[in-house]
Amino acid sequence: MDTPPLLPLPETRDRRCPYCGNRAVVGLGHVTASATGIRCDYRCPSCSTEFVLLFSMRLMIETDWSAPGSP
Ligand SMILES: [Zn+2]
Repeated sequence: MDTPPLLPLPETRDRRCPYCGNRAVVGLGHVTASATGIRCDYRCPSCSTEFVLLFSMRLMIETDWSAPGSP
C-alpha cells in the first residue's frame, strides 16, 4: 500500500481557520512543545482543514489554560 506524503500543515497564530476564517475550530489534542513555543493541532469543522496553532511561551503564561469542561 502506498502512503500518501504528509503535507505540512498550515500554521497560524490566530485561533481560527486559515482558509475560511471559522473561529469554531476544534483542538485535536495533539500538542508539541518546541524551543519557541507550543504547537497545537486544530481542525476546522466547516472546511475540514487541519492546521497548527502556534503559541509563544509568553502567550502561554498569559493564557488561561483551564481544562475543557471546567467552568
Ligand atoms: Zn475552515
